[in-house]
Amino acid sequence: MSELLSGLTGPAESTGPLESVAWKIGVDVAGPVADEVDRESRFPREAVEELKRAGLLSALIPEQLGGGGATLAEVAGAVRALASHCTASALVLAMHSIEVSNLVRHGTSKPLQELQAEIASKQLLIANANSEVGIGGDVGRSICAVEPTDGGMTLEKQCLAISYGEHADAVVATARRAPDSEQTDQVQVICRRPDLTLEQTSDWDALGLRGTCSNGFRLVAKVDAGMIYPVPFATIASNGGIQASTILLSSAWVGLSEAAAAKAHEYVRAAARRSIGTIPPAAGHLAVLATELQQSRGLLATAANAFTAFEASPEMESPGFLASVRNVKVSTSELAVRITTGALSICGIAGFKRGTPFTLDRQIRDAHGSVVMVSNERYLRANAEMLLARKHL
Ligand SMILES: Cc1cc2nc3c(=O)[nH]c(=O)nc-3n(C[C@H](O)[C@H](O)[C@H](O)COP(=O)(O)OP(=O)(O)OC[C@H]3O[C@@H](n4cnc5c(N)ncnc54)[C@H](O)[C@@H]3O)c2cc1C
Repeated sequence: MSELLSGLTGPAESTGPLESVAWKIGVDVAGPVADEVDRESRFPREAVEELKRAGLLSALIPEQLGGGGATLAEVAGAVRALASHCTASALVLAMHSIEVSNLVRHGTSKPLQELQAEIASKQLLIANANSEVGIGGDVGRSICAVEPTDGGMTLEKQCLAISYGEHADAVVATARRAPDSEQTDQVQVICRRPDLTLEQTSDWDALGLRGTCSNGFRLVAKVDAGMIYPVPFATIASNGGIQASTILLSSAWVGLSEAAAAKAHEYVRAAARRSIGTIPPAAGHLAVLATELQQSRGLLATAANAFTAFEASPEMESPGFLASVRNVKVSTSELAVRITTGALSICGIAGFKRGTPFTLDRQIRDAHGSVVMVSNERYLRANAEMLLARKHL
């Protein structure tokens, strides 16, 4: 818990090793090129190389398979620390770690255990292609299907977005189990190079989160039966998948909020130094911002630690926990928009302009991406449906 709550913008001395490593990568590597990554809408390759060097891509994999044996809360701390410097780099770690978390929970077959060992030894990068043209973000349905062919099985999917797809070693995709299956009868398939081709169908010239390079693709893959999860996708999603996803994405929103709040804090302290003995007018706004940041951090810390506590418990799948993690994602993203724009009102023109130490350009644009990166409306709708059936909130 202390790891996720300490420090305004990053780890204090008492924080855990993963968060500190990620913070250092943020300071030394990701932060210095974050504006360039954003401007050119390019993959944050330097930061990802460092994540690999530090073994962060296999942090969640059990030690007996060569991984770091870390908890989700520890990785959430690392995502948060990195997001303070470059949200796009942090999202690469977050999205990859969502897939690894699912593999650790549900990749019980021999081939999927071997894949985990390979991710650890080679620091393979995993992307996701769950959303599909025609169904949007409703990932509980698929149009595409795993198709039998003469020599085996294939998958062809029109993917709405695959973040860093061109740079990934494997792409995880949902699909109907077979050509005659219902849209909700889904499996999840891990498509590996070289049996995978991605043909770009749309580009990623976005308002924010530009370094995620979330282009649309036509995915064509030869499917290896061993690379299909042994449980239905619905189980992967409800038993840890949605929970890990909402928590790890929220970590990025908390980290980017911290970056904006830190600028506002620094701005107010600089004003105070200029007129010793007076309280700068924006100090009151900063105090309000601090309450919002505390809410955001508290929500993340509670959810991340609950995930760890529920790892082997049926509580993981309980409607109450599912609703609460959706709430965390909705709240931390909306708070990110509030905190970044609140920081702007504190920093004024210095925050509005590009090229000043207080510029909030990137954080404000990225914060708006947090609301659509898995639609908040969709999550609220799911919770609204659940509340109709439940007797208590
Ligand atoms: C930065 C970024 C990276 C991404 N990376 C990936 C990736 O790597 N892989 C991947 O598969 N996808 C990725 N996505 C896609 C993402 O996961 C969502 O699928 C996508 O953002 C949803 O598209 P949409 O906004 O059209 O929302 P949808 O969920 O399709 O909904 C469209 C709109 O309709 C409304 N709406 C829809 N359904 C409901 C409902 N049930 N209740 C109420 N309102 C509803 C909402 O207002 C919503 O904004 C990425 C998206 C972003 C922004």
